[in-house]
Order: sequence, then structure tokens, then C-alpha cells
Amino acid sequence: MTDRVYNFSPGPAVLPVPVLEQAQRDLLSLPGIGISPLEISHRSKWFEGILAETKALLTELLGIPAGYSIVFLQGGSNLQFSMIPQNFLRGTGKTADYVVTGTWGQKAGQEAVKEGEVNIAWNGKSHNFSYLPAAGEVKSSPSGAYTHITSNETIQGVQFQEDPNFGDAPLITDVSSDFLSRPVDVSKYAMIYACAQKNAGISGVTVCILRDDMLERVPENLPTMLDFRQMVKNDSLYNTPPTFAIYIVNLICKWLKNDIGGLQKMADRNQSKASLLYDLLDGEFYQGHARPDCRSKMNVTFRLQDEALEKTFVQQAAALQLFELKGHRSVGGIRASIYNAMPVEGVQLLATFMKKFRQDNG
Ligand SMILES: *Cc1c(COP(=O)(O)O)cnc(C)c1O
Repeated sequence: MTDRVYNFSPGPAVLPVPVLEQAQRDLLSLPGIGISPLEISHRSKWFEGILAETKALLTELLGIPAGYSIVFLQGGSNLQFSMIPQNFLRGTGKTADYVVTGTWGQKAGQEAVKEGEVNIAWNGKSHNFSYLPAAGEVKSSPSGAYTHITSNETIQGVQFQEDPNFGDAPLITDVSSDFLSRPVDVSKYAMIYACAQKNAGISGVTVCILRDDMLERVPENLPTMLDFRQMVKNDSLYNTPPTFAIYIVNLICKWLKNDIGGLQKMADRNQSKASLLYDLLDGEFYQGHARPDCRSKMNVTFRLQDEALEKTFVQQAAALQLFELKGHRSVGGIRASIYNAMPVEGVQLLATFMKKFRQDNG
């Protein structure tokens, strides 16, 4: 334990220590079963139990209403960038609206173009994705196939502060980097999806929450593995699912429910962690990338006066066990990813370092 650093990586990212400890206890042999969770059949009673329990926990944590299905898929969120237009746009003759608020939303739109008509309903590129649209600024198509948004842009550090209203088309949201970080009004969405390795587990599984009426739109000729209807019908067990990754999502859900006390508690904790850093960004020395009303509670992005100073910042932070603070290569600067599992002590230590660094270099 003593050699664990504070890992501010954007993903794969820090996991709660109690989750790692539980996985460690189970790793050689599940109690009463004698098989490792890495070895056990996806058709076993144990795994069927994990699958059912994980869905029940997600339903409880997020307050998912009746009429939605949860599936666990592979291929990351990048595969969803293709699956979504394949299932809900291909052959409809309709237009899909994409609200492009950063790198991930842009990528999603670029994939959708391969399947049908796409309208970029809003694009933050001209200001380097530093803020988000207000409701009236999104130019939706009449009777669009769906509207796609990115709840939190991991690279730029902009996050919708509440569930947006962008017209009548089914709303689909990529919540990869803020899934389970706060309560969500699921009923506003036709689909919610997240790869697990940012805030909900390890790489290898993508959680998709689908409103059942969306399945009626799926065209007939899709490859089975790309067909949401087949995934729902077979309860994520059409083929071998990523069993260990789903087991980790299960442990994360239990941690959120039992140790944290639910998503509102988690959101409060995330808010106070984020404030520790944002309070330091409003002066001259540290320049925040995101406009204050759009700031992400998960990925805090900022710049210093020049790249040399940023490099020194990253190096000196690493000497204090504060790791992975370099910004994404497309944006530069500094990014501190402070997901659910980042302890408040890690953020406090970073804030203290930032004050000292400003004193020494300002
Ligand atoms: C990381 C990320 C993705 C891509 O996820 P992969 O699992 O690597 O495909 C997509 N969207 C957002 C918002 C992300 O943070």
C-alpha cells in the first residue's frame, strides 16, 4: 500500500482501494467456489449472479425507470460511436444531430457520417471547446433520428452541469468520463453509455443503458455482435462477455452504495474536490481552459505561462507522488483527472503543491 502514488490519469484510472482489496481477496479463489474470477465460466451460477446484481445496483444507484435495459459490451466507447448510427441511423433516411463539445463528440460525429446524414448541431471548435452551448444555440434537424451529446469532455474538461434539453429527438449521451459521478435523470435519455475504465471500473467493458423503444428502430441486417436487440435479448451473454471487468463494475457499485452512500453523496464529494483546484485557477498564474460555468468536476484542465514551466510543474509534482498530470497532446497544459476514486487527500496535496509552485515561480 505504501508505494501507491496519487494517479491523476484520465483512464484507465484510479480505483477505490477497497475494490482492489476485495478483488485481491477473491483473486485466487472465490470463497466457497474455489475458482478465480479470472477463470470462472460466464455460464456459472456465480457469474449469472454478478450480472444480475450489477444490473440491480446500477438501476438502484441511477434510479433507472422501467422500460430500460442494461447491456455490457466490448469495443469501448469508440465502438459505440459506430454502433449507435448503425442501429439508429442507418437506412432511416433521417438526420442525426451531433453536439460537438470536444474531441470525443467530434470523433462520434465522424463515425456517424459513415452511416447516414449527420448534422453538427453545435460545434465548439472555434474556441477550442472551452464552453458548452445553451439550449437555444443547438440547431437540431426537424424530426432527427437522435441527438448525440458528450456529458463530460475528458480532454478539454468541459461538462454539462445538468441534463440538457435539446429538442424532441431521442437524446443519447456519452458519459464515459463522468458515469456514476452524480445523479442523472435517466428518463431524459434514450441511451446512456460509458466505457468503464474512467470512472466505473477497468477497461474491457462498456455499459449501455437503452430505452426499449429504441430497439424497434434497429435495422434487420446488422451483424449479430453489432445489433443492440441481440445483446439485450441474450442479456449480454450472446458470446463470452468481459467477465472480470463486469465483476469490477459490480464491486464499484457496491462501494458507491455501501461506502459512499449513493450518487448524491458522491457528487457532493466530487464538487468539493474540484473546488480545491478551481479556486486556484482564477488568478494570473494558472489559466483554466474551461469557462467557469462549464467546468468539469472530473478533468481539471489548465495552462501555465509556457510549456517549459508546465514541464517543470509535471516533474516536480511527480517527485511528490502526484502522477499523470500532463494534459492531452491535442490541448497541452495540465490535466488533473479527479474521478470518484481519487481520494480527497490526493487533491489536497495537489492544491498545496500548486500554491507552493506559484509562490516559487510567480
Ligand atoms: C475515453 C473516452 C472515450 C473512448 O473510450 P474507449 O473505451 O477508449 O473507446 C469516449 N468518450 C469519452 C467521453 C471518453 O472519455
